[in-house]
Amino acid sequence: MTEPVMRIGHGFDVHRFAEQAEADAQVMLGGVAIPHSHRLLAHSDGDVLLHAFCDALLGALALGDIGSHFSDQDPRYRGISSLVLLAEVLRLVKERGWMLGNADLTLVAQAPRLSTWREAIWENIARACDCPQDRISVKATTTEGLGYTGRREGIACHAVVLLVRCG
Ligand code: MG
Repeated sequence: MTEPVMRIGHGFDVHRFAEQAEADAQVMLGGVAIPHSHRLLAHSDGDVLLHAFCDALLGALALGDIGSHFSDQDPRYRGISSLVLLAEVLRLVKERGWMLGNADLTLVAQAPRLSTWREAIWENIARACDCPQDRISVKATTTEGLGYTGRREGIACHAVVLLVRCG
């Protein structure tokens, strides 16, 4: 049977905001620390964007999900930068003979407003993937006040990736 030369993956993640506002709170998105009234609850740094991205990469290769690789019960991953998790997932992708063709990432958040941070997030992810910026798309939308993101209860992210076989 002929081996495929492309594989698609989809990822989705949600993190909930802490109930209490904190003076110096921030949320991590794409490895960028963004000041906000509330932090996101998580075992790791709660980077919902990178978690969805990792899940899409793992999904493309049928390698399970981020939780099966980095358990939220494992103290080694407490507070860990999700850039470290992404690096490990990208290592698995490369090890199996694939490279990132492109990624399309969509954040869903009513708050914080992400338009001023989008560029920094975009640059940071392209750097983390060691690929040209035009292979990465970072988009952000609100839900017009509807649903859990609209009520500012948390942030969601959708990710789609295309992997291309190397060589
Ligand atoms: Mg997560």
